[in-house]
Amino acid sequence: MTTTTESAAGGPGTGAAARGTGAPGALAALTELSMTVGGAALAGAGGLEVIDPATAEAFATAPAADRDQLDTAMAAAQGAFDAWRRDDDARRAALLAAADVLAAALPTLATTLTAEQGKPLAEARAEIAGACLWLRYYAGVELRPEVVQDDSRGYARITRNPLGVVAAIAPWNFPVALGLWKVAPALRAGNTVVLKPSPDTPLTTLAVGELLRPVLPAGVFNVVSGPDPLGAWLAAHPLARRVSFTGATATGRKVLAASVDDLKRVSLELGGNDPAIVLPDADPARIAEGLFWGAFRNNGQFCLAVKRVYVHRRRHAELVEALAALAGAAVVGPGHVDGVQLGPLTNVRQFRRVTELVGDAVHHGATVAAGGGPLDRPGYFHEPTVLTGVEDGVRIVDEEQFGPALPIVVYDDVDDAVARANGTSFGLTASVWSSDLDHATAVAARLDCGQVCVNAHGAGLRPDLPFGGHRWSGLGVENGRWGLESFTEPQVLVTPARPAANPGTPPAAPGDEPPAGGSAPGETAP
Ligand code: NAD
Repeated sequence: MTTTTESAAGGPGTGAAARGTGAPGALAALTELSMTVGGAALAGAGGLEVIDPATAEAFATAPAADRDQLDTAMAAAQGAFDAWRRDDDARRAALLAAADVLAAALPTLATTLTAEQGKPLAEARAEIAGACLWLRYYAGVELRPEVVQDDSRGYARITRNPLGVVAAIAPWNFPVALGLWKVAPALRAGNTVVLKPSPDTPLTTLAVGELLRPVLPAGVFNVVSGPDPLGAWLAAHPLARRVSFTGATATGRKVLAASVDDLKRVSLELGGNDPAIVLPDADPARIAEGLFWGAFRNNGQFCLAVKRVYVHRRRHAELVEALAALAGAAVVGPGHVDGVQLGPLTNVRQFRRVTELVGDAVHHGATVAAGGGPLDRPGYFHEPTVLTGVEDGVRIVDEEQFGPALPIVVYDDVDDAVARANGTSFGLTASVWSSDLDHATAVAARLDCGQVCVNAHGAGLRPDLPFGGHRWSGLGVENGRWGLESFTEPQVLVTPARPAANPGTPPAAPGDEPPAGGSAPGETAP
């Protein structure tokens, strides 16, 4: 592992909205931001300190909404719903305009994202570009009525109607991308939104709200920030008809419980303990890089990161050596410094958790092949760590570490590896690595999770494919037409004959072609 220290990678952020000084030594990030409620700026009733994880020092104060302010935001969203749901063309145009505005502000947004989240600037840029891609994709997706009967006996048609106000709650690992994964389909379907970013990373989302004020009709898109209880109020709010949540499984349970009284529609994108199985015929030299970045990208802080590797004994030594070499070569430092590949962990909780899980594994006999602990410098930096000599039953194998520490577990029998891979309560994603595509595909089909890839990890993360977890990893899916439909409810119309203004031919399948241009699918990896 190489570490870097300081030196800004360029001048201050540009763009009309740029203001504030950002974290010490960082590029200028947006630090004085307001909430967006009813199309206007709203200062917080209180404040929320935002920490630069590269220094562990506060560098900004974000607004914190109180209950009255949340009520105002929800009422604004409710008030905007009727007009917004009526004009499909206006909604498409608005999503495209929103993508253009965010793309134009990309440098400033990326700088702010790096300052609050810690990720390397190039990845912050890719995240913003990915959010724009999602907006453009949904602008192009059709929600056509489906005609199931149109004959002499009568006419039957199904439309997908919006639900109303969507409460969208996002985590801190990909704050903008995961927020926009909710906002884009919700708005496209005709709903209005109140979005709450994580208290760890509120700034870039607040900036998105500010930038979109002139683009979207007042009240259609609202952003409120504040500590965790604000999320609980939002999830339980009587005006929310749909809650779209991404975060920890424990929080997801609370969100689901809060939906019960009003029978709110809920989707939950939750935690994982994603396995990678390396088959005996895999070539470690060829797969190591894909496997390494499948685990360590964003410092392992992405929901579908490889969290445990099961490798056949025949390939174990070679694979550990190759992964350790990559860990040793990774450049760790503040995200705004040129060439940095891994920034700090995003918050002190995560930093302590990874440190604790690595210590626990070593205590239970793990061998450290690379890294092994925190870096001796300010901020939440942890060495990229590869552990071997661990088994199921040790916490770092059994739990979601969500950080730069990867346990490698040896197996002798593929059936046993499959059983162990499936032997958790989670089921988000998985991957199988092999030189034999057919064998790998057959093994992949036996894994119980929402997405599984062969010789890649997370390659199914695209706007046009459904993403969601099995078992404790989630409820429902996001993305593609499946995600769009989840922001609607079907309504059946039956008439004795086709009404003049209604379609008479069965529709084509909803369009789900990714838009031309933009960043490549998979560029964001929540
Ligand atoms: P978290 O659950 O602590 O917080 C997520 C959001 O929920 C934050 O905005 C938070 O303020 C809010 N919140 C907290 N308490 C709430 C409550 N009672 N009701 C409603 N909202 C509440 O999660 P986190 O630490 O921000 O994110 C890390 C977790 O998210 C990891 O477990 C990770 O696997 C998961 N995650 C899952 C996906 C996915 O798509 N499956 C993607 C990214 C992250």
